Amino acid sequence: MKAELARVRPADCDRRVLAALLPRAKHLGAPARRLAHAAELVGGRASLRRECCRRTYLRGLFLAGGSVSAGPSGYLLELRPPRGEATRSRAVLEREGFAPRARVRRGRQVLMLRAADEIASFLRHAGAGETLLRFETRRVSREMRGRTNASVNADAANLARAVRAARDQIEAVHALAESGRLARMPLEVRAAAAARLRAPEATLSELAARLETTKWVVRQRLRRLTREAAR
Ligand SMILES: [Zn+2]
Repeated sequence: MKAELARVRPADCDRRVLAALLPRAKHLGAPARRLAHAAELVGGRASLRRECCRRTYLRGLFLAGGSVSAGPSGYLLELRPPRGEATRSRAVLEREGFAPRARVRRGRQVLMLRAADEIASFLRHAGAGETLLRFETRRVSREMRGRTNASVNADAANLARAVRAARDQIEAVHALAESGRLARMPLEVRAAAAARLRAPEATLSELAARLETTKWVVRQRLRRLTREAAR
């Protein structure tokens, strides 16, 4: 991302912004160093009145000490402003509509964005179009994967519930048969009991098909068995 940001050609007003920001950052990477060098040639005072300059400032902030990552707990964009820039960097971010969370780490202020929408918006503001594209692609596939996992989990939960219910029904039928109560139950309930014993793993729909009735009716009859056994 830094290489991409350093390729954006700054206007003169933006060079002044970068000149004020970059040389104060301690460990500049190669792309940012080149840009800082180019910015040194322009004189004059930096101002952040223009939008292009504020965006350049955000770009410079990232070049001076930024990172973006996607971990298992979510996304994180971190900005570690150069010394003396903590207050201004926060103000510029807020003015551009961001709500960074601030933390102090080893005596330096760290500004963080965690919401994926906000990170995407930062990338757009800073002019990192390629990174934004990669970020959005990653984000979509993560969300898809999350949704698939959720539905697999839901399926597994439904299956577990169905298996448990079938087991309870079978136990109920055995208990009722042993105590002689099954014989006194209505014919259609006994038919449902027999169908369940014959097919312990059948779904309600499958039992309904075998008994030539509806799922709802089968459920009622099986419930009657478990209720009766519980008495
Ligand atoms: Zn400008």
